[in-house]
Amino acid sequence: MSLYYKPHRNPGWNYGGDKWRLSRSKIEFFMECPHCFYIDNKLGTARPRGPSFTLNVAVDTLLKKEFDAHRAAKTTHPLMKAYGLDAVPYQHPKMDTWRENFEGIDYRDPATRMTICGAVDDIWVNPEGKLIVVDYKATSKEGSIETLADSSWEEQYRRQMGIYQWLLRKCGFDVSDTGYFVYANAGIDKAAFDGQLDFEITLIPCEGETAWVDQAIADIKTCLDNPLPPPPSSDCDYCKYRDAVSASLTKVGGHAHSTPAIKAPTYKPPTPPQKKIAKNDDDGNMAQLF
Ligand code: SF4
Repeated sequence: MSLYYKPHRNPGWNYGGDKWRLSRSKIEFFMECPHCFYIDNKLGTARPRGPSFTLNVAVDTLLKKEFDAHRAAKTTHPLMKAYGLDAVPYQHPKMDTWRENFEGIDYRDPATRMTICGAVDDIWVNPEGKLIVVDYKATSKEGSIETLADSSWEEQYRRQMGIYQWLLRKCGFDVSDTGYFVYANAGIDKAAFDGQLDFEITLIPCEGETAWVDQAIADIKTCLDNPLPPPPSSDCDYCKYRDAVSASLTKVGGHAHSTPAIKAPTYKPPTPPQKKIAKNDDDGNMAQLF
């Protein structure tokens, strides 16, 4: 088993446990595949996660610092001016909590008795006092990103925007229907890397979709209260792969997900000597160069 994958989590973090909350990413997970969502949240067997996108996290962190300077000074950021947006970064005592993963904006839904939560990247405010939800995105793609249609995640991003707007409204705030994505797009049309990426920063308006949220929350409650999981998604290939693996192993007398029929070799190659040159690997960890 990988050092990082822990399939069975502490039951307190499962549905019904004292720490379980319905986060925005869990709602998105349910939209993607209710079966996997049920196994993860109700049965407590987590789906393996991919590596964290540390370059994107770095861009988010630096953008946060940049907008925080304008928040403290109550000034309009040049990007807002360039796009004719009359707004400033919003000041609120809970701003840091709202932006923190595992904290975020939260709301206890009386109908389902579930706590819904989501961590925003930023909130701005216009002169009328309406809050504007903002999310930072980093990517590398040919051409400029000027509309959400230029991204391959349009539908998901509209839902993401919608959840944050829904949460803030449930908490009593006046929220603009239009939110924004601050998009940082790294160009690759240079002759060489030279130790730096050049980003084009654009501001993309997005009408958040909120009409679906109440129904999705009710559906999630029904799903989690059911003693059996719903069927898997037809769009995902992994269950088909798992079934195919089971069928292949059955043919050779093996069993899927049990002791392998062939004994693993006991030979371990010697550890090569390590040189003392280090750099960041793709996950942002310090990796040795051999
Ligand atoms: S189809 Fe299977 S593997 Fe894919 S997301 Fe659903 S339950 Fe998970």
